[in-house]
Amino acid sequence: MNPAKTAIVIGAGFGGLALAIRLQAAGIHTTLLEKRDQPGGRAYVYRDQGFTFDAGPTVITDPTAIEELFTLSGKRMADYVDLLPVKPFYRLCWEDGTKFDYANDQAELDRQIHALNPPDVAGYQRFLAYSQAVFKEGYLKLGAVPFLSFRDMLQAGPQLARLQAWRSVYSMVSSFIEHDQLRQAFSFHSLLVGGNPFATSSIYTLIHALEREWGVWFPKGGTGALVQGMVKLFQDLGGTLELNAEVAGIDVENDRATAVHARDGRSWRADCLASNADVVHTYADLLGKHPRGKREGKRLKGKRFSNSLFVIHFGLKRPQPQLQHHTVCFGARYQALIHEIFNGAELASDFSLYLHAPCVTDPSLAPPGCSSHYVLSPVPHLGNAAIDWSVQGPLYRDRIFEYLEEHYIPGLREDLVTCRIFTPDDFQTELNAHLGSAFSLEPVLQQSAWFRPHNRDAQLNNVYLVGAGTHPGAGVPGVIGSAKATAGLMIADLNP
Ligand SMILES: Cc1cc2nc3c(=O)[nH]c(=O)nc-3n(C[C@H](O)[C@H](O)[C@H](O)COP(=O)(O)OP(=O)(O)OC[C@H]3O[C@@H](n4cnc5c(N)ncnc54)[C@H](O)[C@@H]3O)c2cc1C
Repeated sequence: MNPAKTAIVIGAGFGGLALAIRLQAAGIHTTLLEKRDQPGGRAYVYRDQGFTFDAGPTVITDPTAIEELFTLSGKRMADYVDLLPVKPFYRLCWEDGTKFDYANDQAELDRQIHALNPPDVAGYQRFLAYSQAVFKEGYLKLGAVPFLSFRDMLQAGPQLARLQAWRSVYSMVSSFIEHDQLRQAFSFHSLLVGGNPFATSSIYTLIHALEREWGVWFPKGGTGALVQGMVKLFQDLGGTLELNAEVAGIDVENDRATAVHARDGRSWRADCLASNADVVHTYADLLGKHPRGKREGKRLKGKRFSNSLFVIHFGLKRPQPQLQHHTVCFGARYQALIHEIFNGAELASDFSLYLHAPCVTDPSLAPPGCSSHYVLSPVPHLGNAAIDWSVQGPLYRDRIFEYLEEHYIPGLREDLVTCRIFTPDDFQTELNAHLGSAFSLEPVLQQSAWFRPHNRDAQLNNVYLVGAGTHPGAGVPGVIGSAKATAGLMIADLNP
């Protein structure tokens, strides 16, 4: 009998976890190595004085991709995690007092669109049909398929051309919808995965159809409870998770990875390995001693990276019944502000914010009578803006709090129980993210599919990538799709 095959996955973000589950479920002994003291990556959890703060993803979409991990393992998702529906999906607010509750209720959507601009009711229907066509092509067909050769790209070419993938999200939305605020309402989604709506391919309008198809969900106990459910599944299958295990290097012999060694001196050998860590970190640092790592690291450093984020987690001694679970707070400027976030050399003086109020769906995330929150502001990455966050961070926090007090949470600072900030510096140091980017390579057409770092390295043929830096890209559904694409290759390569 052949001895069991072994695999290492570096990094326990959603992509790494989903890949580790798939490999372990396929009978490959898998060790998951995570630098930090908790799994989850961007979905880390902070706890303080009875408050629970999810650090990253809160808009959970495509529950079917998550459920598939449990069913392929012969388990029931309901035994591990409880997904609660979020209604409305989001509340969108503007400074002139306009509110739009984006929900999965056509009559309600039509009513609100009609109130802003009657012709856009029909325009929205055409936009939805377009976004559904892109969703079928870009997500259902190609979202979990590795693009290893240019031929794969050429095969997708005619469909991409038919769907006018060269146009930006905003340009496509504007071809259907006239009203300025509605254009913002139906184009901001690509920001959730690090895409500038004015530069990212219109393929990313598929997020709209994806949300309409399967809804927006929130795990009971927070996104961290979903991470814990996935960790338990992996461990129930017999997988090994090592926390506080920062990989310092990957050993390569004859173009094959043989082992990894950690900063603390431990090492692990395996038949193959996948990295869920940042792609530049993986090539330039972990594989930096090998010519392939050096070359690829240098090449990737020349690519465009997504913006970073400034995040404030805060707990209040009062509930906030005026808020919905997810609020997008649009500032006075849209295009100009987004341009500054993606290209500017300094912090803009105004903001557009995302405000999280999870106690609306699950009050257990704060002590009785209190509420936990985070607010995030998209900001330039460290390569564009050399901001000293140790100085600017607290000042920026105060500006955001002042704005929130004025528009959304009166008395915020009086009610503050606990507060912490996470800056682009933290993305860089805590998560090893190149330039502190929150979403890895920017999802523009020339950095997507075959043009993105491949799920399997072209030269080191037992080295694989999973997560936001490889195909299809960032976002929880994206990285879970990348795990499916990468697992398919690894399992096939190990069982020729
Ligand atoms: C604030 C925020 C809000 C977001 N909101 C949403 C949302 O609502 N919905 C959504 O779908 N997406 C959202 N996203 C995007 C989404 O969270 C990410 O795209 C996704 O979680 C990235 O997963 P990943 O698998 O690429 O791994 P990551 O989460 O990036 O994890 C990589 C892991 O690798 C580890 N690592 C790095 N280097 C090493 C090393 N040398 N050795 C060992 N381990 C290492 C890191 O510690 C980390 O745990 C959000 C992102 C952020 C930052």
